[in-house]
Order: sequence, then C-alpha cells, then structure tokens
Amino acid sequence: MDTDNGYDVVVVGGGPAGLQAALTLGRMHRRVLLLDAGGYRNDPTDHLHNFLTHDGRPPAELRRLARAELAAYATVEVRDERAHSVVPDGPGWSLATDRGPVRTRMVLLATGVRDTLPDKPGLADLFGGAAAHCPFCHGHEYAGRPVGVLGSHGHVGRLAAMLAPISSEVVVLTDGDAVDDDNAAQLARLGASVRSEVVTGFRAGGAHDGAVVSFAGGPELELGGVLVATTFAQSAPFAEDLGLALLPSGCVQVDAFGRTSQRGVHAAGDLAHVPELPMPMSSVLAAAAAGQAAATGCVAELLALDVGVPVPA
Ligand SMILES: Cc1cc2nc3c(=O)[nH]c(=O)nc-3n(C[C@H](O)[C@H](O)[C@H](O)COP(=O)(O)OP(=O)(O)OC[C@H]3O[C@@H](n4cnc5c(N)ncnc54)[C@H](O)[C@@H]3O)c2cc1C
Repeated sequence: MDTDNGYDVVVVGGGPAGLQAALTLGRMHRRVLLLDAGGYRNDPTDHLHNFLTHDGRPPAELRRLARAELAAYATVEVRDERAHSVVPDGPGWSLATDRGPVRTRMVLLATGVRDTLPDKPGLADLFGGAAAHCPFCHGHEYAGRPVGVLGSHGHVGRLAAMLAPISSEVVVLTDGDAVDDDNAAQLARLGASVRSEVVTGFRAGGAHDGAVVSFAGGPELELGGVLVATTFAQSAPFAEDLGLALLPSGCVQVDAFGRTSQRGVHAAGDLAHVPELPMPMSSVLAAAAAGQAAATGCVAELLALDVGVPVPA
C-alpha cells in the first residue's frame, strides 16, 4: 500500500452523504479525512422527516450523533475546515484547505447543493417551516389544513396530487401566470382551487397557524403551509473545476458506486445522481445511502490499485 500519499480518501462535505461515507471507510480501516465547511442544505429547517428512527430529529443532532460514531474509528479524522481546490497530484490529488494542503489517493465529493427560492417577500423566512419544497419531507406537518402550491407549470399538478390526500384543500397560486394545459387537466381532475392573482408576499400565522399569502388584488389567503419549487446549484466549484460530466439537472453524473467521469473522484449525495433519475432524491436517507455506496466504490478501487482485485464493472 502507498502510505506516503497522505490519506486514502478525503471526503469533502460533512452532511449525511459525507458522514456515512467516512463511517464506511473508517470501518474498512482506510485513512480518511472529512472536511466540513459547516453549511448544510437543510439548515433552514429544525426537524428532518422521512428517515426511519430519526423522524422528527433536528438535523444538527443527527450530525452530532454521526460524528460521535466516527470518533470510534481511529483512521477517521474530521476537520471543520473548507476545501478551496482539488488538483491532480501524481497518482492522487492535492486539496488546498483552510489549514494548508492535504494529499490523498482518492477524493469523495459530498458538497451538496444550495437552493434558490422564488423571489417573493417573506418566503425565505417561512422556508423549512410553513413553506417547503418537498412533500415527502414536509407535507404531513400540514395535515388537515389547506395547503398552497406556488406555480403554474412543471410539477405543479403532481405536487397538488401528492398533497390532496394530506390536506383539507389544495390551492394553486399561479402568481399571475396561466396554468399550462397538462397541469390544468390534472388540477381539474383533483378539483384543486386556483388563485391566479400575482402573489405579493408571505407571512407566518393566520387561522391555520401556517402561512398567510397576500395578492396584488383580492383577499389574503390563510394556509397551513405552502409548497414551492426551488432551483438548485452546486455548493462548491469542484465539479466544474475537475471537468466532471454533468447531467441536465446540473448534478454530477455517477454510477451506482458513486464513480464520476474522473478516475479517483467519487461523488455522493444531492450534488450527484445516476442518469436514470431526473434529479437527486434530495433526502437525508438517500444521501447517506449514496455516501455508503460511493465509499464502497472507493474501497474497490483501492483494492484494485493495491492488490489487483478487479473493480466491479
Ligand atoms: C428546507 C429543507 C428541508 C429538508 N428536509 C428534509 C427532511 O425532512 N428529510 C429529508 O430526508 N431530507 C430533507 N431535505 C433534503 C436534505 O437536506 C438533503 O437531501 C441532504 O442534506 C443532502 O445531504 P448532502 O450530504 O448531499 O448535502 P448537505 O447536507 O448539504 O451537506 C453538504 C456538506 O458539504 C460541505 N461543503 C460544501 N462545500 C464545501 C467545501 N468547499 N469544503 C468543505 N465542505 C464543504 C458543507 O459544509 C456540508 O457539510 C431538506 C432540504 C431542505 C432545503
């Protein structure tokens, strides 16, 4: 084994994908450095859902528990530190970090994505509480109350259909746009209400203890919650810097073992997905599972390099 080249794997990112990857690599006695710059996609929310045994747990607590588990593995080092660059260095890689360069044989990117919300006053204050982008994560919390869906195209009809069994009523907020034909047909089948005025803002509260929507004309609307589509982009520049193959979603293309188009670079979590999916699963459990798979892929490549065990096709 090459023991002069720093770490076996540097994991960049300390969300669920990176933490699980470090656990898997630590259990295989690989020398691992996990770098965490300290900003997470689910920062806006106080509670995560839809993860068995962790349903309702604060995300920070999950990370704290994960780090405590990592502490049991002698070959795993965790640093609250940002990576600034990843460049080829001989057979491996060199990363510039807050505390200087580190060398590694392999890199596992788990830097996640960041969301941009529709530009509406007050919406950011509600995001992660009375406003959400994923009904699997935050939908049940609005149960039995009217729920809004902001938008007029894309997945509006699908979102409304998912919320119909949960809410007392679905109200689509088209923000002054006409609903496209496909979505209009779906909404008609659901019997969803439509408010077509321009939305001027959101605030917390109202009769349903959720969100109050104001419009350019017409009365305010009181809701238990509102679903909004976000646009998302890579949190870190490394995919672009390394020229990794990207998918139409803007995420890094990976295979089932988290392999990217660049040998020696794996990726896991929201920043990456397999081409069979239109976008990442965007869930804590799925990110952790991807971290485990990518770490398994790293172990396979290290075995191939060190003792000639063939890498799975
Ligand atoms: C409002 C909201 C609520 C959500 N609620 C739920 C929920 O209830 N249930 C659920 O399953 N999912 C939920 N999600 C989705 C979930 O947050 C993500 O799927 C998950 O966090 C993805 O994990 P990740 O490890 O890929 O990325 P992240 O958790 O975003 O972690 C990225 C990591 O990369 C690090 N990083 C970035 N750049 C650098 C750098 N240059 N150097 C070092 N480190 C770096 C960050 O510091 C962080 O540690 C929610 C998302 C949002 C936006």
